[in-house]
Amino acid sequence: MNITGYTAGSSILELSYLIAAILFVVGLKMLSHPETARRGNLWAFGGMALAMVTTILLHKDGNGRGIPLANVWVIMAVIGVGAAIGWTIARRVKMTAMPQLVSLYNASGGAASALVALLEYPNAIAGDLSSLLVTILGLIIGTVTFSGSMIAYGKLDGKVGDIMKPYMTYINLTLLIVTLVLGAFVVVSPNPPAEMLWSVYILLGLSLLYGVLFVMPIGGADMPVIISLLNSLSGIAATMAGFIYHNQAMILGGILVGAAGMILTILMCKAMNRSLLNVVIGSFGGGASSAQGEHGAIKEITLSDAAVLLSYSQKVVIIPGYGLAVAQAQHIAQELDILLEDKGVDVKYAIHPVAGRMPGHMNVLLAEADVPYEKLIEMDDINPDMPNVDVAVVIGANDVVNPAAYDDPGSPIYGMPIIDAHLAKNIIIMKRGMGKGYAGIENMLFFNDKTRMLFGDAKDSLQKLVSEIKSM
Ligand code: NAP
Repeated sequence: MNITGYTAGSSILELSYLIAAILFVVGLKMLSHPETARRGNLWAFGGMALAMVTTILLHKDGNGRGIPLANVWVIMAVIGVGAAIGWTIARRVKMTAMPQLVSLYNASGGAASALVALLEYPNAIAGDLSSLLVTILGLIIGTVTFSGSMIAYGKLDGKVGDIMKPYMTYINLTLLIVTLVLGAFVVVSPNPPAEMLWSVYILLGLSLLYGVLFVMPIGGADMPVIISLLNSLSGIAATMAGFIYHNQAMILGGILVGAAGMILTILMCKAMNRSLLNVVIGSFGGGASSAQGEHGAIKEITLSDAAVLLSYSQKVVIIPGYGLAVAQAQHIAQELDILLEDKGVDVKYAIHPVAGRMPGHMNVLLAEADVPYEKLIEMDDINPDMPNVDVAVVIGANDVVNPAAYDDPGSPIYGMPIIDAHLAKNIIIMKRGMGKGYAGIENMLFFNDKTRMLFGDAKDSLQKLVSEIKSM
């Protein structure tokens, strides 16, 4: 029986979307703690699988017809191929290449939403402002997300460099305004979509170009903000695609990604001391070098001196960074931690919000090595205690402990909050040589009187240090 257009099938479909939405929210909540994150992912996956299966089985078009069987086979085949590719890449990817993978996922999300908008635009009705608005917004946001994320991928992978031109801001701003004005023109135009296709293709080109030019100038230490912004944009684009199909599961899933990404973007902006407006316009914080001139002498520390210093300390703070991830030194760092704790040393880890190459990078690595979550102390909480710390052990971190953020107004990281390693009584820095960090700038901490360098691959140095302490 079909009362007021509702069938049992459509009620079940809507109920399944509601259940999927609940599963997304519960999954997202569980992602906020490393112990529950894996299960959270599975819950959200369950929600998505449920929404997909019920849509394929129960969706009906305006004439009450379900999806033709031939199309179902095509959909299943495409899902199968996509899932196999995603599974293989995700299993093979190295932890240090995760940010690149996230960028590729953002790019595919943006491309999918843009394609939905492009395919559905000819079916829109002139004058139907709301559906034209979501279609055009889906096209613009999805396309910008796609091209911007591809550039972000290239930059993170070292394949694309920065272009830092003072006039880039004006070009970007003009391009953004032209794109939005053309978008508005397409939405309000009384002409049927078939006659407006040329402007939609121009809009596509402009959006592609804007995505490229908006991410291109982002240099220095500012990429994390852009990655989380693009992640948020991919969610907003998916929401627009959900509106086009009146699909609640898609709308809600997109809103959750968009909102979570936007909150993360704001937190990242706060962590980097940047305004969101700068991010949207592009061109801030390049990789210019600063701190030129006399640096002073570098002092090295021997393994035995480091072992003695650490063993006879009361408070040690480990400051992990990107080099820890490259060296995969998290397990041996945890072994050092346990060894020192057995000797009565209080060991904590100082976590900078943008350490590594993706938000939460250090938390993920250290959780993988079973470091208890309570030992990871956020930057704002550990900094007041840094003057009481006997030894700050900086493992593969550079930009996040660079005091230029405080005292060099010419530095691209000036104003960014850092972990105050320079306030500790002693500083041991483990890195391979005098290589620069992501921002490409000199770090005067290496020349500090209290600093001693332990050169070598972080895993290798830590292994030797652990053996040295054991043999004491
Ligand atoms: P960093 O400033 O990039 O410095 C990493 C240091 O690790 C390098 O100076 C390098 O020096 C050393 N290193 C590399 N391989 C090593 C190994 N095998 N063993 C020991 N040391 C090794 O790292 P960070 O302090 O973690 O700062 C992160 C930077 O990345 C920030 O500028 C941040 O803005 C940016 N970023 C962050 C994200 C995010 O979301 N977290 C995303 C994109 C960009 P040597 O070559 O001398 O060894």
